[in-house]
Amino acid sequence: MIIAPKIRGFICTTAHPEGCASNVRSQIDYVKSKPALADSPKKVLVIGSSTGYGLASRIVPAFGGNAATIGVFFERPGTERKTGSAGWYNSVAFEEVAHEAGLYAKSFNGDAFSNEMKADVIDTIKADLGKVDCVVYSLASPRRTDPTDGETYKSVLKPIGAPYSQKNLNTDSGEVDSVAIEPCTDEEIAHTEKVMGGEDWEMWITALDKAGVLADGFSTVAYSYIGPELTFPIYTNGTIGKAKEHLEGSAAAMNEKFGDATAFVSVNKALVTQASSAIPVVPLYISLLYKVMKEAGNHEGCIEQIQRLFADHLANDGAPILDEKKRIRIDDWEMEEPIQTAVADAWGKVTTENLSELSDFSGYKKEFLRLFGFGLADVDYGLETNPERPLPSQS
Ligand code: NAD
Repeated sequence: MIIAPKIRGFICTTAHPEGCASNVRSQIDYVKSKPALADSPKKVLVIGSSTGYGLASRIVPAFGGNAATIGVFFERPGTERKTGSAGWYNSVAFEEVAHEAGLYAKSFNGDAFSNEMKADVIDTIKADLGKVDCVVYSLASPRRTDPTDGETYKSVLKPIGAPYSQKNLNTDSGEVDSVAIEPCTDEEIAHTEKVMGGEDWEMWITALDKAGVLADGFSTVAYSYIGPELTFPIYTNGTIGKAKEHLEGSAAAMNEKFGDATAFVSVNKALVTQASSAIPVVPLYISLLYKVMKEAGNHEGCIEQIQRLFADHLANDGAPILDEKKRIRIDDWEMEEPIQTAVADAWGKVTTENLSELSDFSGYKKEFLRLFGFGLADVDYGLETNPERPLPSQS
């Protein structure tokens, strides 16, 4: 099959196996080009390991610290006639390179929110690794079925208390228009917390603890975002922000139970991922931010961010450096005053006409396509390729 991108709004419904593999290999090469981690975890479980921040969180300890990894994700395998999802091909490529390097790597495809997935992963840890010493929780999902009540909860991206309108980028047409979003209901806040808060993170850690598969002194990290004031109503002060507050509460509860410096929330930079491209206003902010940070010479992608998270905080000789709310801040370069001032200035001026001059929308589009394995220089997209790629650990 010849595989080309098919974009529908903020999602691409096809993915290219060789392109995804090339992406994964370049992330691995980046990690290998850095000094080995000083004090790496050795047995790492990554929940949400197939794309974005979670994929990078699997690559960094594996190739920076020779860690054995178990990955959990929800992806679509390819068939003879239909391409799989990018996360599927990323995971196939990750396992292939890890196995070639002699590293243990197994993956689970299914619903991380379910009891069955937790039980399957625990069985495998018991059988193969004994215990894990680090658990990364990097899920981004629009819905969650809670196994305790069987209800399916949906998350929403809405402001709280008042309507929000702001400039917005139509990433299909390249037009700068505006978006107006009505405030959420109390029920929507509760449901968004159910999906994107820390309840399931705590359920994973509780299940792993009960099964006796957490090593002494284990650590766990989940990811959050804060961003600039102009997105506060839709992000930090909106429904998703409430869920992230809940996540911080879960970290505090786990530290209470297991001891300080066990559970961390890391605040990461805004980046093009499948999850962030679905958030109103954020793609315009990211396009402006990329331009400013590239010009400043401190732009990073997921792999650079997570390399820094492990090298400077989770896997160095000292303890992680925390802010006043006990969070790790790898969004520090994004939030620097000159960067934020330049973005705010461009935000005030940006229109459809000057978008390409003031922003890095072309970089945004390239990166969006790369998420699905398209636009890589070393891939010949005119060649036939087989969309059916088994996961090495499952075949
Ligand atoms: P992503 O969409 O790239 O990855 C989401 C992962 O979750 C994938 O591996 C997917 O397979 C998995 N997943 C989703 N539903 C699942 C389910 N039911 N069972 C098993 N796996 C499931 O997202 P991302 O942008 O890397 O986000 C990861 C975390 O980082 C989120 O908490 C997000 O809020 C946070 N974050 C993202 C950004 C950003 O700009 N992208 C910035 C800061 C923090």
